[in-house]
Amino acid sequence: MARIVIYGKGGIGKSTVAASLSVVYAMKGLKVLHVGCDPKHDSAASLVPGGLVETFLQKHRRVAGIRDLPPLTAEDILARGRHGIECVEAGGPEPGFGCAGRGIALMLEAFEGLDLLGSGRHDVAIFDALGDIVCGGFAAPMRKGFAELAVVLVSEELMSLYAANNLARSIRAYAGDGARLAGLVVNLRDPEADKAKPERFAKLLGTRILGFVPRDPAVREAENARAVTAVELVPSSPFAKSLRSLAETLLKIRRQDCPVPTPMDDEAFRGDW
Ligand code: ADP
Ligand code: MG
Repeated sequence: MARIVIYGKGGIGKSTVAASLSVVYAMKGLKVLHVGCDPKHDSAASLVPGGLVETFLQKHRRVAGIRDLPPLTAEDILARGRHGIECVEAGGPEPGFGCAGRGIALMLEAFEGLDLLGSGRHDVAIFDALGDIVCGGFAAPMRKGFAELAVVLVSEELMSLYAANNLARSIRAYAGDGARLAGLVVNLRDPEADKAKPERFAKLLGTRILGFVPRDPAVREAENARAVTAVELVPSSPFAKSLRSLAETLLKIRRQDCPVPTPMDDEAFRGDW
């Protein structure tokens, strides 16, 4: 089973890429589990008819107060999306209240209890994680064998590389039994941008670039059309092509072939490279 977690700065395109990967795999006939870990719970919006799934935390709260109720089953937790993709959104507290990582931690506990990832129910699991804040909760998908490959999305913008460098530190810290850094995916903001900078950055991190994703109006078209991804709406688009290629690349990567990353310290990051 391929278990891939997508990290990166907020707004970089994680959910767009994660949902598209899930669709590409499902359309190949693979059984896909799509896990949204962002408290915003918008990861599966393009995958389920109607766009909204009740989050794990909402379900958990609904049944938590009721005594003598059997624990949640996989069927309770998973929403059936298009192409047979099984979706779950961790959810989170009301903005400004409580710890946003709590939903993820509880959801992953439930996965363990149900042996969801070991049950053979899915061929691929895609975790759409959160980028900037790498508290224990957000790092959870890369720990304890949930995801085995981490993909970090960056753009040509320095702050996205800064976030990626911090994520690489987290990945290095959990290298023992955690996810390995499969590489970076560059989702370019500006089609004219200098690709050499993210390439130099990848080299310094001891990793590689898995692919460049072009800025593509098909992505917005799909967003506006609701409950569809760009890979389905415009299969001939440059975005769709790059995602199909990325999906193939990822399936060939083995955890044991991915080196532990070599993130820069803050001073080196601020330096000239
Ligand atoms: P994240 O999940 O990392 O916060 P999103 O996937 O929600 O980011 O993307 C943020 C915005 O950027 C969305 O409106 C999305 O449509 C847009 N976007 C992301 N990647 C592309 C792309 N390659 N081409 C065009 N728009 C994109
Ligand atoms: Mg997102």
